[in-house]
Amino acid sequence: MKHLPNKGLSPIGGPLMPQGKQLLNNSLLNKGTAFPDEERDALGLRGLLPPKVFTLEEQCTRVLRNFRRFKEPLEKYIYLSNLQNRNETLFYRIIQDNAEEMIPIIYTPTVGQACLEYGVIYSSPRGVFLSIKDKGRIAEILRHWPMLDVRMIVVTDGERILGLGDLGAHGMGIPVGKLALYTACAGLHPYYTLPITIDVGTDNESLHADPFYIGLKQKRVRGREYDEFIEEFVQAVQEVYPRAMLQWEDFGNANAFHLLQRYRRKICSFNDDIQGTAAVALAGLIASLRETGGTLKEQKILFLGAGEAGTGIADLFTAAAMDEGLTEQEARSRCWFVDSQGLVVKGRPGKLAEHKVPYAHDFKQISSLLQAVEELRPTALIGVSGQARAFTQEIVTKMAAINERPVIFALSNPTSKAECTAEEAYTWTDGRAVFASGSPFPAVTLNGRTYLPGQGNNVYIFPGVGLGALVSESSEVTDGMFLTAARTLASLVGTEDLAVGRIYPALNKIREVSIRIAVAVAEEAYHDRLAQRTQPSDIEKDIRARVFEPVYHDYI
Ligand code: NAD
Repeated sequence: MKHLPNKGLSPIGGPLMPQGKQLLNNSLLNKGTAFPDEERDALGLRGLLPPKVFTLEEQCTRVLRNFRRFKEPLEKYIYLSNLQNRNETLFYRIIQDNAEEMIPIIYTPTVGQACLEYGVIYSSPRGVFLSIKDKGRIAEILRHWPMLDVRMIVVTDGERILGLGDLGAHGMGIPVGKLALYTACAGLHPYYTLPITIDVGTDNESLHADPFYIGLKQKRVRGREYDEFIEEFVQAVQEVYPRAMLQWEDFGNANAFHLLQRYRRKICSFNDDIQGTAAVALAGLIASLRETGGTLKEQKILFLGAGEAGTGIADLFTAAAMDEGLTEQEARSRCWFVDSQGLVVKGRPGKLAEHKVPYAHDFKQISSLLQAVEELRPTALIGVSGQARAFTQEIVTKMAAINERPVIFALSNPTSKAECTAEEAYTWTDGRAVFASGSPFPAVTLNGRTYLPGQGNNVYIFPGVGLGALVSESSEVTDGMFLTAARTLASLVGTEDLAVGRIYPALNKIREVSIRIAVAVAEEAYHDRLAQRTQPSDIEKDIRARVFEPVYHDYI
């Protein structure tokens, strides 16, 4: 049954309000044992629930107790997924109140494991699956989704899931997880969210052999047929959900760059792997200056990995350094890349991918990261290669010999792919590293000091940017908005964070961080005349009034 939002962002009943079992099966409206007596009588629930009426708080206590009983993170993930499919208010209450404990379960690193085993742990579908065989009827299929007013779509084709590679249709765990974070972190109402997986096949042979694989067992469709499918998809979204924005997620880098360029002004959209990562890393670099001293434009950054994340960060760094007075060429000359072929330089044999060209400097060919560190003497080393343990002791020690406070970001996800661990970074630099990682690491105690390293994860950026763009009904998400988001995030890092070695705010402040970013992004949308809504007199008040709070509403 379709249900309509009443006003603004809250979903509810009205004439189409489901009753009885249908109501219990509606995860957005279900309250489970918390339905009060009057509603049980009025809505045909009497007898379908045990007699005792519980409060939301009592339900939370019960859920937490069960959640903590599980030892394996994947078991916790499955438990929370089932809860989400049953009762979203309770699910989001738990996530929001226990963000630090829950986010690593519903998102990285556990979601990576969930995607690897998606076929086996599958129990009920969530979101929309569009396969290449649906060509010509995408709009019709999107209309099967029961919500009438979708505003935020996260879409993947599963080709580059985290640092785990091509997981095909098993990549659905990522849009589902990211949209849960939109709600938990920024308060976007779940009614407005739609996860989509585009299945054009997979080149991962092990999935072809997997009896539990949920997608098409064929090679990936590429080239013209792929592009036509995506074009039909974008047009169908605009037709069925004209107010929806799109987040492109975990596409392989050959498609990610050109899809972003082709569509970013045709439909309000952004690529989180390129632009979201850029903003979170830049925020980390800005915050690290409070430890290392100096200005952003003086930094020299060496990246391991020249893909979506790496060049996205370098592009945003360039914009920020130009704001500090450098020319574009000077700013780009502060960024260097080592990829799977060695240092990215002019004249390297073979054709360089377009996104690497601006960073191919005039320099000799170098094949190893260690030698690149020795020759270039960077102030910051950023790992976005998906290559586990690529920052060896020798490399990290060298960074510490060159810099009093070396900046070391091991951003590859999930944890198993991190370029080094927090413990290694601190131990090998005698505690001098300014460290951040993509997935969380436990606290490290060294020489009597305890470090709680920060998670340089996009979760600090995309929920706020998306909410700001969505509420202002911006026609696009500009690079300037990501720069603003990075600066806002960096400004929210407190001295108490720096004191424990953290260059990001604590995760339990994520709601406030996301709202502050949303306000800054919306202000920019109104200022740049991209907003399709009239500017409210108080932008912050307007946004705060719209955020979803996981509490039960009265139905009668
Ligand atoms: P990508 O596929 O676009 O790029 C990967 C890059 O790594 C390519 O340039 C490739 O040449 C390079 N590479 C591969 N093997 C290498 C090797 N042996 N030595 C040096 N370079 C090598 O992927 P991406 O989107 O840039 O993501 C890369 C990693 O960054 C992933 O693990 C991803 O999880 C992580 N990431 C983290 C965050 C975060 O929030 N922390 C955000 C986005 C991406």
